[in-house]
Order: sequence, then structure tokens, then C-alpha cells
Amino acid sequence: MLQAGCSLRPETTMVAVGDSKVNLLGLERAGLEAFAVELGGKAFRARQLMGWMYKRGVGRFDDMSDLAKSFRALLAERAEIRVPAIVSAQQSADGTRKWLLRADASQAFEMVFIPEPGRGTLCISSQVGCAMDCSFCATAQQGFNRNLTTAEIVGQVFLAHRELGACPGEVQRTGERIVTNVVLMGMGEPLANFRNVVPAIRILLDDLGFDISRRRVTLSTSGLVPQIYRLAEEVNCALAVSLHAPDDALRSELVPINRRHPIAELLEACWHYIDEQNGRSVTFEYVMLEGVNDSPQQARALAALLRGHPAKLNLIPFNPFPGTHYRRSPPAAIERFRDELLRRGLVATIRRTRGDDIDAACGQLAGRVQDRTRVRLGSRLSAVAAAGA
Ligand code: SAH
Repeated sequence: MLQAGCSLRPETTMVAVGDSKVNLLGLERAGLEAFAVELGGKAFRARQLMGWMYKRGVGRFDDMSDLAKSFRALLAERAEIRVPAIVSAQQSADGTRKWLLRADASQAFEMVFIPEPGRGTLCISSQVGCAMDCSFCATAQQGFNRNLTTAEIVGQVFLAHRELGACPGEVQRTGERIVTNVVLMGMGEPLANFRNVVPAIRILLDDLGFDISRRRVTLSTSGLVPQIYRLAEEVNCALAVSLHAPDDALRSELVPINRRHPIAELLEACWHYIDEQNGRSVTFEYVMLEGVNDSPQQARALAALLRGHPAKLNLIPFNPFPGTHYRRSPPAAIERFRDELLRRGLVATIRRTRGDDIDAACGQLAGRVQDRTRVRLGSRLSAVAAAGA
């Protein structure tokens, strides 16, 4: 359904026209200004361009009526506004939507929209596949193919607005947004693609860009400690960390990056991030695996680890996928685990499973990763260990 006054129309489809063109969705404000100047225009053209792109959802230079014809012609020659192509789209019984998006001829990645009363969360991918090799995650089974570009990351948000019939600038007229929150919780490890992810987040936050509040853009990481410190310096958004275990032995089994950056080091980085960002708290994700990490004793150990710190716990019922040997903890075990945490003064919630009938739930995104290089962290770390390094 299209909103009145929204110039975002299906026929504004942005097509791939050639590799040499600059995709404007990949440029932050400063980059766009430099590009406008390079084309012989004034830097303020970048503001106008951003207005068309991010407030009105316009993807064709011809429709940007307040730009001089000659400038539009130059843009058409040198630049493009290109979103990822849709391979397929699915809708869950609960309203969750999932799109399979094309990265290359044989590679695809996924994007998910989760509508809830009063808010709409868009879950975007940062890589095709993932190299982190977490043992309970479907994406890990696919191996790693490549990083998404900044334009492909921002392009997901642009495309989602188009698909949902929403106009990013609509908020100025109605006070309402359809996409209220963006989470980098799709395929990939965002901090392993730091160079492209940081500019993308800046475009999401920029008031001339999507203008989303910094508390509503969340980056989730499996725990790349040095990059958490760098992130604190470069951008200001909410941080989620996939913790999943209260001790190093178990965490190293579930999240292999823990062998390089153990829990104490990771938590240190998290508290630093909150200090630097003047943030409220870090959300710790904890997947509930029956008989693995869901005992009351483990809940108490977890509480001891996080008590007194700006931490929130988000318990995620495990979402199964073909070939996994893990099972979801029963609801009673999850509630008991949460209650142990609450009793110890922690803030803990249970994430409601959404979109599992279309494999759109956490950890179920498999995309289509062919030609994978299979560079997996786990195998690399064990090779290093075996070599006695
Ligand atoms: N690589 C980042 C981004 C992924 S976010 C990270 O690890 O944080 C997706 C969240 O879903 C992470 O917390 C991840 O650990 C969790 N997850 C992965 N597989 C899952 C599964 N099968 N069931 C439930 N949650 C899962």
C-alpha cells in the first residue's frame, strides 16, 4: 500500500547499469558532497540528493526536479542508486517478512522485517555467509563468501521501505514510521566487515539520511574485541553481544572467537563501549540450548558475571535448522533461567520467536552461499592450536 504524497513508486526500480558507476547508497554525507563537487556541482547538492533518496525514497535522477537538468544528466552518466535485487519474498503467518536478495549470480543473502504493535524492526545482513563458525547457527553452516558493500547494506533499508510501501520521510507528515528499528542481526558478523558497516550505520543515523535514533540501530557481534573499541570511537549506536555461555570452556565451544577473546576481555570492551558512548546498556544475547547452557546454576554464574554492570539479557529460544544436534530448551527451563536472573537484579527478557515458519527466525538465515571459501574461524583456530602456535 502506498502512502499519499510518497514519491516512492515501484517504477522507480533502480537497475544495474554498469560496474563503473558510483552507487550513491554507499556514500556518507561527506563522500556525497565530495562526489557532487567532483561532478562540477556545489557541495550542497549532496543535501538535495539525500533529501530525494532518504526522505522521499526516490531512486531515479530524472525525478529529482530541483536539480539542474545538466547535473542530472551527469549523475545519470556517472552514478546510480541501486538496491539489491530480490530473488524471492516470503511472508510468515505472524506477519514477519523475509526477502532473499541477490549479491552475485550465485550468491544471495537475507533480510527480515518483523512488525510489532508500535514498532517495525528490520533485520539486515552484513556479509554473505559468515566465518565465525558458531556451532548453533545455520548461517555458519554455509561458510563465508564475501562482505557486503556499504551500498548493499544501506540498499537493504532503502529496498525495505519500497517493499513495505513506506516512505522514510513520511514521519514528517504522520509522525509514524514503518521501519522504526534496524538491527544488524541478519547474516554475517558486522564487526568483521567494519570498513563497510560503519559508514552504513552513519547513513542510517544521519538526520539527512534515514534519521533513525542511535538507540534504535543495533549492531550485534559475536565478540570481536578490538573492533568493539574501534566502534566506540567511530559511531554511536546500540550494541548487542552474543554471549551464550557463562564460562570460557563452554563459550569457546559455542562461539569459537572466544578462544581468541575470552569473556573477561569481551566484557571489559563492552563496559568501555558504554562509557564512551554515554549509552544505557549492552544487550547480551543468550541462545537457550537444552542441556547445554540452560541450567539454574549457569543462570547464577551468568548473573554473577553481569551484576552491577549496564547489562540487559535477551534469552533467545534456540531455532532449529536441518542437521543441528541442538534442541530448544523447554519453555519452563527458559522461564526458570530468566527468573534466576531477575531474582539477582538483572534485566532479562525472553525473545519471542517470529517468522520460524519461513525460516526467518534468529540463526535460521541461510541465504544461498555457493563458491564459499569456507574460511571458518573455528577451523583456522584449531589449525593454529594443532600447530602449537
Ligand atoms: N554475528 C552476529 C550477528 C548475528 S545476530 C552475532 O553473532 O551477534 C543473530 C543472533 O542470533 C545472535 O545472537 C546469534 O548468536 C543468534 N543465533 C544464531 N543462531 C541461532 C539459532 N539457531 N537460534 C537462536 N538464535 C541464534
